[in-house]
Amino acid sequence: MTSGQVAVSRAQLAWLTELGIDRKLLASIADTTSLFTVPPAPAIAPAARAGLKPGAALAPTRGSAPASDQAAAPARVSPTSRPIPPDAQPAQVIPVVRQPLPDNLTALAESVAQCQACGLHAVRHQTVFGDGVAQAPDWMVIGEVPGDHDDHLGLPFQGKAGELLNHMLVAAGILPSATLFYTNLLKCRPKGARAPKPEEIEACLPFLRQQIALVRPAGLLVLGWQAAQALLGQRASLDRLRGQVYRYHDAGLDIPLVVTHHPASLMLRGHFKAAAWQDLHLARQALLSLP
Ligand code: SF4
Repeated sequence: MTSGQVAVSRAQLAWLTELGIDRKLLASIADTTSLFTVPPAPAIAPAARAGLKPGAALAPTRGSAPASDQAAAPARVSPTSRPIPPDAQPAQVIPVVRQPLPDNLTALAESVAQCQACGLHAVRHQTVFGDGVAQAPDWMVIGEVPGDHDDHLGLPFQGKAGELLNHMLVAAGILPSATLFYTNLLKCRPKGARAPKPEEIEACLPFLRQQIALVRPAGLLVLGWQAAQALLGQRASLDRLRGQVYRYHDAGLDIPLVVTHHPASLMLRGHFKAAAWQDLHLARQALLSLP
């Protein structure tokens, strides 16, 4: 690969098209990264890839290649602003790879399920604790509040916003190779999809901090300004908070933290998708640069 060129698979090209990423933007980062260089893929059992049976899923190796990319030869993208072909096909959502919760997280999840520390306990259908690889995943992905589907299913990032997040993670080269645990700042859904109140965030934040301490991810990917403000302790807009790598220090952890737009917000403000993709790229680089 020559300087200024980057290789993408057909699947990634489809996601990039959906995200509004054009070749010019790709080329702007191509000189400094091997983002879309496709290394050999690990052998991951189909059951683990599907992740549908708790306990059966194996965690893919960090930094390894998407297995779905093996079938399609990477296509060269030159640093020009030629449009991405319109025939790029949308790919399917990558299923969540799951592990059963270890005992300490099960105990915390039970505490959350019983919690009445704020008024949201009265309006929830059920608490939404988290989902994914619960022990030392590459990333803990932290949203803000459960969505409507989440509230009914007890799982985070269901519905269209979850699909978009999945697409974004694939486009950025994070999925399917990285292991992820998904959760939210609040474990109960506010009625009517309103923004959480400060006292609700204050009541629920200790649960999130305990989750981070027990899950011990390699990095934190924080979606949305409320989750970012809560974890960083900074009152600033998302525009000011995104675009950089922070360090999260707590419970003996010292891990990178990257902030970006929440997918539900991107569904309303599509012009921020390119910025979100850049943030995910930044996150991926932050983890790859760890010793
Ligand atoms: Fe408890 Fe958090 Fe639910 Fe409030 S949102 S009731 S603090 S679990």
